Amino acid sequence: MLIASPTGANICSRCIDQAQEIVNEESLNTHKDQAVFNTLAEIPKPTEIKAHLDTYVIGQEQAKRAVSVAVYNHYKRIMVQDDVDDVDLEKSNILLMGPTGTGKTLLARALAKFLDVPFAIADATVLTEAGYVGEDVENILVRLLQSADYDVAATEGGIIYVDEIDKISRRSANASITRDVSGEGVQQALLKILEGTVAQVPPKGGRKHPEQPLVSINTKNILFIVGGAFEGINDIIARRRKKTLLGFSKYDEEESSLKGAELLQVVEPEDLLQYGLIPELIGRLPVIAALEELTREALLAILLEPRNALVKQYRKMFDLEHVELVIEEAALEAIIDTAQKYGTGARALRRAMEKVMQDIMFELPGWDKIKKCIITADVVTKGSQAKLS
Ligand code: ADP
Repeated sequence: MLIASPTGANICSRCIDQAQEIVNEESLNTHKDQAVFNTLAEIPKPTEIKAHLDTYVIGQEQAKRAVSVAVYNHYKRIMVQDDVDDVDLEKSNILLMGPTGTGKTLLARALAKFLDVPFAIADATVLTEAGYVGEDVENILVRLLQSADYDVAATEGGIIYVDEIDKISRRSANASITRDVSGEGVQQALLKILEGTVAQVPPKGGRKHPEQPLVSINTKNILFIVGGAFEGINDIIARRRKKTLLGFSKYDEEESSLKGAELLQVVEPEDLLQYGLIPELIGRLPVIAALEELTREALLAILLEPRNALVKQYRKMFDLEHVELVIEEAALEAIIDTAQKYGTGARALRRAMEKVMQDIMFELPGWDKIKKCIITADVVTKGSQAKLS
């Protein structure tokens, strides 16, 4: 097909296709070697990174510190990797361990936001080895590419969070017969992109097929953060410590004082091996940080303090309708009670809050002369009316 311009020039559809290909290739190749940060001074210091994380993530001090240092080192490593000397800096991928709803995903997300790099979340449980029913591991990269608006250079400096890594451990039973039951194949596939490889991905995701143009993505500089609850690993850690400390009467005093996250903090690679992660993968996750179960005080702080705190969000919504929203302390405590019953950490707060606020939000736009809305504990526990004035 020929397409004519008003000035009399013609171009055929084949030339258009070819030109488009050149444009695509060029846009993929430009700033290919540009790093996210070019000088040491540009990389935010660990203290700065942590200060930013503090505005989003309540508590979890140890994890925030570990992550801040790891990220700083990660970008420092990228900066000097072309230097020819005899020191090889290794990639510092991060393993976050801790119960569900304690801020693992939030931490990774807050980090990417601060660094202004592309970010993607993947769920390890839906991943499969290439060839099985399910999602190819490489599709994680597609998501990152999409989040980077198809800018390959930006993608290659991005952050990927892989959730539920513990669910693909070798020992975990999986009912599905269509996928690799052991999870080991997925771990192997993940390992490859964690280590650094040039992956060929279909830009739109899905399965690769022969005629499809593929984009190459080098994963060498992508920071991987993997997370999981690792239920039951406490027993493995405790057992190992019992064995190694046996014979020392010190054992009992020390051990009985360690529980929950404290125990997670003394996790050793061999515990992860016991849990069912393959040794090569463990070797690629040099930074391990434990997140603690959130206390009541932490949950209260989560409702009130972070930049996107739920209470702040609701207040803002009411503000827009010129109504002042007051949630009494006792009401907040009652919301925390409800949330704790759900047992999904801070994630339950939203649900508990939503349950209380839904009816009120339904009426809110119709309020005419009302200037103030007070939520008391009874509104939460007994479903009473909010006090309006
Ligand atoms: P997980 O540890 O299961 O990945 P998430 O990070 O997804 O948990 O947390 C779910 C939600 O709970 C977050 O979006 C956030 O609103 C809230 N939340 C969890 N932990 C914290 C925390 N430590 N500080 C602030 N908010 C938190």
